[in-house]
Amino acid sequence: SSEASGGEVYIIGTDTTFAPFEFENDEGEFVGIDLDLLEAIAEDQGFEYELRSLGFNAAVTALEAGQVDGVIAGMSINEERLVKYDFSDPYYSSRTGVAVKPDSGITSLEDLAGTQVVVKTGTTGAEYAESIKDEYDFDVKYVEDSSTMYQDALTGNSSAVFEDYPVIQYEITRGMGLEVIAQSEEGGEYGFATLKEKQPELVEMFNAGLQNLRESGEYDEIIARYLGE
Ligand code: GLN
Repeated sequence: SSEASGGEVYIIGTDTTFAPFEFENDEGEFVGIDLDLLEAIAEDQGFEYELRSLGFNAAVTALEAGQVDGVIAGMSINEERLVKYDFSDPYYSSRTGVAVKPDSGITSLEDLAGTQVVVKTGTTGAEYAESIKDEYDFDVKYVEDSSTMYQDALTGNSSAVFEDYPVIQYEITRGMGLEVIAQSEEGGEYGFATLKEKQPELVEMFNAGLQNLRESGEYDEIIARYLGE
């Protein structure tokens, strides 16, 4: 973080393509639920930040290297991560969806046997795929961003993508030629993350701002902006 106009400017890392949480819209603007929440929270709490669209794993790596102060990227709060990071209060819940091409003949996890699936490095979706790959007898391929992951399934190179359900469903609703055939049993909630005990004031401000947005109705407005009422 750096000093500017007497106050700290927090550097916040985020993903590249993860609609509706962060993505480039048709006007070429980088928008989404995460970014609108962050902007509204920063305004409410009076802090400044600069956004870095790095990719999910790169953002987490940058956080660990101290190159960013926080990450907002539809990042699921789980026990493993709570050891290394401080998370804000949860702001959205999600689970992993498994999506395939509708004409692939794959209708269940059993049908993945002998195939390769594609996941995004460092995500809970990747972790879920790893946890069931022996049981269902498939291989796991890693890529760095969601658009590459979708392409790999759409071209038939991989049989299925493991992606957060609200994200893959958002793409499908907008015409992406995949369908969800299964979801992980365990869900997780998204939180804003900082390195453990490094930025307690930032987490506190995030929580206070989030609470204010929930009370004012702005949280609901932001969700509705991307997902409807
Ligand atoms: N929610 C998932 C995770 O935390 C995916 C996040 C992402 O791909 N941006 O790992």
